[in-house]
Amino acid sequence: MSGPLHRAGYVTIVGRPNVGKSTLLNCLVGQKISITSRKPQTTRQRITGILTRKDAQLVFVDTPGFQDRRNTALNRLMNRSVISSVQHVDVILLVIEALKLDKRDVELRELLPQPVPLVVAINKIDRLRDRNLLLPFIQSVHERFNGAALVPVSALKNSGRDELVNALAALMPAGPRLFDEDEITHSSERFLAAELIREKLFRVLGDELPYAAAVDIAQFETHGNLRRIYAEIIVDKESQKPIVIGKKGEKLKTIASRARADMEQLFGSKVFLEVWVKVRSGWADDERALKRLGYDV
Ligand code: GDP
Ligand code: MG
Repeated sequence: MSGPLHRAGYVTIVGRPNVGKSTLLNCLVGQKISITSRKPQTTRQRITGILTRKDAQLVFVDTPGFQDRRNTALNRLMNRSVISSVQHVDVILLVIEALKLDKRDVELRELLPQPVPLVVAINKIDRLRDRNLLLPFIQSVHERFNGAALVPVSALKNSGRDELVNALAALMPAGPRLFDEDEITHSSERFLAAELIREKLFRVLGDELPYAAAVDIAQFETHGNLRRIYAEIIVDKESQKPIVIGKKGEKLKTIASRARADMEQLFGSKVFLEVWVKVRSGWADDERALKRLGYDV
């Protein structure tokens, strides 16, 4: 008596800025998650979401460097550690915009490790005035990205979601679930606060971002319609501190004020946010610290 084949594996979403990666992840998995009990893993990647179906489990992981870097960073993407971080996934999901195949999309594709199967989501199809333009576009993408599965979607309108999940699942190795429901907790406001600060760090510092930078929420208090949040950006070396802080504290101020604005919107409350930069030398090698910061070790 054998049921249908179950598949499970890791996916990473890549693509140039603003193509809709975050929106698509949200459309695929709904809520961000965190893992309560960890198994040893082959990657040091952060899990950003898990989609569990009867027949498949897709675990979405972050690949720092491919995500939010500026275009000028393309050369740096050749950086070995970044390349190797995408090598450990089972499928790469490349997001592009409908009718807007860009030089950067093609360059990015060339940097991806060839042996890892590729699915291309052609996003924002809801914006098309003329549906007839989609087919020739798909054809041209097909010619460029030979061998990749192409799926038109609208992350915003939730359309093409099942087709995309099917395409990803089909490329996963056969095997049981990697995580059980009871290991997964939906992320708290605390987790989301750290995520938002982390995102601003990426955006504000771009190429300058120290590799080992991490965010820790030291304190999170709710008083009626006010959240008081004390966060720490942790770097590895004293010399990285001024990079994050910037001239006259400019960079840190920008990071904190943008993160605060997003938090107020997300939590629907006033937010008092203080962000400090701390040096913890060698933290990246400290397994316990990594776990606390939400990395998989
Ligand atoms: P990321 O930088 O790749 O993570 O892109 P985001 O997910 O932040 O999306 C960038 C912008 O595109 C946002 O304003 C989204 O609302 C918008 N967007 C994302 N997906 C879609 C879509 O399917 N249709 C439309 N019309 N807009 C979208
Ligand atoms: Mg994003």
